[in-house]
Amino acid sequence: MSRDFVYSGSPAHIVFGEGKGALAGEWVEKIGCRKALVLSTPQRQADAEALAVRLGRVAAGVFAGAVMHTPVDATERAMETVARTGADCVVSLGGGSTTGLGKAIAYRTDLPQIVIPTTYAGSEVTPILGETEGGRKTTVRHPRILPEVVIYDPALTLGLPVGISVSSGLNAMAHAVEGLYAQDRNPISTLMAVEGLRAFKAALPKIVEAPRDIEVRTEALYGAWLCGAVLGTVGMALHHKICHTLGGTLDLPHAETHAVMLPHTAGYNAAAVPELLAPVAEIFGGAIGGGLWDLATQIGAPLALKDLGLSEPDLDRAAAIATENPYWNPRPVDRRSIRALLQDAWDGKRPA
Ligand code: NAD
Repeated sequence: MSRDFVYSGSPAHIVFGEGKGALAGEWVEKIGCRKALVLSTPQRQADAEALAVRLGRVAAGVFAGAVMHTPVDATERAMETVARTGADCVVSLGGGSTTGLGKAIAYRTDLPQIVIPTTYAGSEVTPILGETEGGRKTTVRHPRILPEVVIYDPALTLGLPVGISVSSGLNAMAHAVEGLYAQDRNPISTLMAVEGLRAFKAALPKIVEAPRDIEVRTEALYGAWLCGAVLGTVGMALHHKICHTLGGTLDLPHAETHAVMLPHTAGYNAAAVPELLAPVAEIFGGAIGGGLWDLATQIGAPLALKDLGLSEPDLDRAAAIATENPYWNPRPVDRRSIRALLQDAWDGKRPA
């Protein structure tokens, strides 16, 4: 077996532990800044304002206008607040939508970012920014986009609704599954992927039972860091291409789309690289596609694209776009097989 690989470690600071969110102000100063603009979605504005109060003299203000898929007009509004307040860094408190806004600001201004993630999306440890404008999603990868500091505080995830926790967890797991067969995988990314999948397999059913259990939330957030780090270091394949198409072009919700698609795409690729997915097959008790689908069923995750608002005629369009400029994939991709895979996912069928 060949062992050739390139490994580049991420320069970000990762701070992990219950209560560590309280260190945000210290980190603003540690990275040499004095005026932090706190970012959030409109739903989390009260939390963002409370954080700004705790930041005290290093707070520049709050911008609570983060929106899913990082629309450019929302970024432009945030940039006006950056200019008006004279902020010299951002603190993004929330899920991937809020992190996306912080990245969009950093990409344009090179302001440092501190991210306090409250979902499992994983964006906080990647140098990737997806933006939308006029219904089109574009993705850029740049070192300026990678957040400088990430503070993982499981206490801040206790109130994450079970439905979002479950979908977001499967979204994270998708990064790890695709990382296992990535062309540019390395021994560290593979170790992180397997450990991240193990953590989520253990934590997600327990979150459904006891969403406010700090130990279980800690395990899930630890899994989120691992899976996100895999996404940040190696290339993604068919699964992410399909979800990118369904989310960016057909406006399906991000995490839920990942949750529905993962058993199908993993099952499809397992046929080509069973040896690379063997560690996951072991964690999920046999066949990957079926095993992931059973976990999704057990934890009440969405199972069918038709339940996410996609109409059946849109499947043709989705298959066409997803196969137009395909990402590298371990199993050949053609329009017919992807159309069939999408049909199964639309119907909510259990993959083999
Ligand atoms: P999100 O950030 O939109 O959060 C989902 C909902 O949960 C929001 O309404 C939010 O306000 C709420 N929420 C978040 N934390 C909460 C908490 N602790 N308690 C209660 N409610 C809470 O969704 P997401 O799935 O985290 O992120 C999706 C976005 O992230 C998409 O735009 C996607 O493209 C992007 N993303 C990017 C990358 C990347 O590397 N660039 C990686 C993953 C996701």
